[in-house]
Amino acid sequence: MHELKKFGSLELSRRVLNAITDMGFEEPSPIQAEAIPLLMEGEDVIGQAQTGTGKTAAFAIPILEKMNPKFRGVQALVLTPTRELAIQVAEEITKIGKYKQSRALAIYGGQSIDRQILTLKRGVHIVVGTPGRLLDHLRRKTLKLDSIRFAVLDEADEMLDMGFIDDIETILRETPGEKQTLLFSATMPAEIQRLAKKYLRNPRFVSVSRDELTVPQIEQVFYEVKEFNKLEGLCRVLDVTDIKQAIIFCRTKRGVDELVAGLEARGYESEGLHGDLTQAQRNRVMRKFREGRAEILVATDVAARGLDIENVSHVINYDIPQDPESYVHRIGRTGRAGKAGSAVSFVIPKEYRLLRLIEKTVNTRIKRCPLPTFEDVLESQREVIIDRLSDTLQKGGLEHYRSIVEEMAGNHENEEIAAAALKLAFDIEGSHETIDAGEVDFGNTGAKEGMVRFFMNIGRENELRPQDLVRTIAEEAGVPGGTVGAIRIFDRFTFVEVPREYAERVLYSMDRSIINGRRVHMEPAKVRNRQD
Ligand code: ADP
Ligand code: MG
Repeated sequence: MHELKKFGSLELSRRVLNAITDMGFEEPSPIQAEAIPLLMEGEDVIGQAQTGTGKTAAFAIPILEKMNPKFRGVQALVLTPTRELAIQVAEEITKIGKYKQSRALAIYGGQSIDRQILTLKRGVHIVVGTPGRLLDHLRRKTLKLDSIRFAVLDEADEMLDMGFIDDIETILRETPGEKQTLLFSATMPAEIQRLAKKYLRNPRFVSVSRDELTVPQIEQVFYEVKEFNKLEGLCRVLDVTDIKQAIIFCRTKRGVDELVAGLEARGYESEGLHGDLTQAQRNRVMRKFREGRAEILVATDVAARGLDIENVSHVINYDIPQDPESYVHRIGRTGRAGKAGSAVSFVIPKEYRLLRLIEKTVNTRIKRCPLPTFEDVLESQREVIIDRLSDTLQKGGLEHYRSIVEEMAGNHENEEIAAAALKLAFDIEGSHETIDAGEVDFGNTGAKEGMVRFFMNIGRENELRPQDLVRTIAEEAGVPGGTVGAIRIFDRFTFVEVPREYAERVLYSMDRSIINGRRVHMEPAKVRNRQD
């Protein structure tokens, strides 16, 4: 663990200290404790840390300390991958600099360029922007970088993913040689390392170690669903979960629109956020969510990147992300500022391999939960139903309905009639079906009762041993090794039995995986009839 220092020991000015105290920061986060002194001494810094570790203040504090408010030129430039992040970083800088008369401006596409030009003319100390729009300003000569003393690349790996690398280099070439350059990135792919080598002078490397990265206060669970009952599964989870605010992630813009519509049709209010919306629409949605006037935000990765909203109690991966890094980014949207949070993922069987990859990246087992049943949903709504009934009883005006009950009372118990009325009022069509039972029928594979037998095209000739196979299945599919059943290894192929409940998971994780250097093919075994 880090020996946590107080902000006081970082030798900050009164003005900055007062501002961060106003913000409720008590002690520096590990990345801040390491990076701030280096930056104050004039070093270039590479910072590796995940979202939610306080990177913004780590660079904003030294920038503000070293800024000269009387000089009206741009002294620091921060590059961010998205407009939302640009706004957020500019806001944080404004808060930290509130006693220093500093002026920070967010510059991003989608907003009127004339307004930005006007503000720039009036004098801005710190510019935070997305690469595209910044280039625009440089070409129009409405932004000058010759008095820059700090250049910051925030979330560099995200900018790389979004194809901004050339723009970044063009922008950096416009800045003076004499300055401090900082690069923050959750991951360090080769391209980022190359960038660092080219533009940073003897950079000092600070990172937050793995155990500090895994975010213990975020509970992580997943539900197995089928593609066709995913939405129903989500609704049930929403019904039984105590959500303050949730961000639901979809893979595509279209997925966002479809889910918002699907939720709406089922009576759940939500707001969609993705890149096809106009900037005004995006701002409106974000404001609504930030102010707590919307409970559910449905978004793509890009749209929600780096967002920091305090009360997000749940991050829901409606579509599990394609790469493990974005899982980390996504779940970093919850459990902010030390609060508890939950990450819920929906996984269809063919995504099990992805899930395992994610588990390896975050270095935790993500717990599988059974989907809530209709009974669970009803139970969780019990109080609501009772409340609404009592309310209705109190308000009266029941005469009309009463005569119907009286007419039926001769043939039925009163309790029965009341229960039927409730069913009418609260039942959603089809909601009784167990929705996680839609299991694939593997047919007769010749396995023991409750098991499925698989065929694999690898055997003794590939030096396959039973213990290796068990270990690989346990490791790749994330199932308990002890549950693997009978194994028969032949020269060139192998049969292995696994419990029915894990069968799809094993199949999707193992087929096309590599064992002893060989790409494996796996399929359900077939039992031959005598005739063929
Ligand atoms: P990152 O850029 O690493 O994802 P942020 O800079 O957005 O993280 O910080 C995440 C949240 O933590 C923000 O709400 C920020 O105000 C808050 N924060 C940052 N540093 C501290 C601190 N030292 N103490 C308390 N909260 C902090
Ligand atoms: Mg950040």
